[in-house]
Amino acid sequence: MTATEVDGVAVVADTPHVAPFTDRSGQPVYQPQTRVLTLADGSTVYGCAHCDYTSENPRSIRPHLGKHNRRRNGLRPAKDAVLDMPLTDLMDRLAKLDAILEEREQWKARALQAERRLRQLRDALGMRA
Ligand SMILES: [Zn+2]
Repeated sequence: MTATEVDGVAVVADTPHVAPFTDRSGQPVYQPQTRVLTLADGSTVYGCAHCDYTSENPRSIRPHLGKHNRRRNGLRPAKDAVLDMPLTDLMDRLAKLDAILEEREQWKARALQAERRLRQLRDALGMRA
């Protein structure tokens, strides 16, 4: 999370940094990972979009962003892990899932059959569930 206060002074505005150059068509280039933070005392600092790192120098944010580069750090949230999985691993997992589902159907059929037999036994013995 981007900093919400810097040295005890609250952040009152958080906007994307605009690069000091334009794109080919002359449009401004936004650097959304570099935040321009306006503080309650009217001063401006630059912040990281991913953590509470701040600096008075806008150029220090981009090198800092490397810390959040998942590939370089080997940090991968579990939900993304499946996206990085080789296709053969995914196919293996699907095959296992199919086998489990098939087995489940077999057990379900056996359970239903067992329930039917139990009901027949109860009926034969005059027991009512
Ligand atoms: Zn950061």
